Amino acid sequence: MDMIYYLFFTHVVLYWATSLFYMNKYKQGVTGNGYVIKNVLINQFLVTPLYWLAFQFYPEPLPWKHVIWQLPAIIVLTDVVFYVFHRLFHWNKTLYNNIHKQHHEFDPPIACAGLYCHPIEHLCVNLSSTVFPMFIVKASLPVALLWTIIPSINVVVSHSNIHGGAHTTHHKYLTCNYGVGGLLMDRMLNTFR
Ligand SMILES: [Zn+2]
Ligand SMILES: [Zn+2]
Repeated sequence: MDMIYYLFFTHVVLYWATSLFYMNKYKQGVTGNGYVIKNVLINQFLVTPLYWLAFQFYPEPLPWKHVIWQLPAIIVLTDVVFYVFHRLFHWNKTLYNNIHKQHHEFDPPIACAGLYCHPIEHLCVNLSSTVFPMFIVKASLPVALLWTIIPSINVVVSHSNIHGGAHTTHHKYLTCNYGVGGLLMDRMLNTFR
């Protein structure tokens, strides 16, 4: 299916373009962060393609006009899946110490470290939360592209804001703001800060 190539290319280009923009803006430096860049590239080029197999089972897409309810549904579903797995990775100390701790080496985070994490975390948290909602709502290519653009930029922006922001607060306290986007799950389950 050609869809995955469009989505993958869009994701990689936007992730690095946004990273370079914010790293430059906040003077976060690129040279000392070679290991971060290498880790993210491995996640993108070796781990993300594992998800391509799942696209064999992509459902018959609905016409793009369904975007009106599909996009809000995807945003909510992503928050739910991300919240559940992310909180699990904090709650279980084995998972935290062996996997999620790597992502938390940064406090405050830097732009290009949005996807700096253990490969298992990239599969279970980042990819599952953003990819499966597209399957559930049967997103067409334009909707899937739109949904690739938003989180690819958002993950970088949410890690670049050294002067605050909900996810920067998560990196500081580790006990709040587990979700993404509108943090609906955090608001409902009293972990919003
Ligand atoms: Zn983070
Ligand atoms: Zn975390």
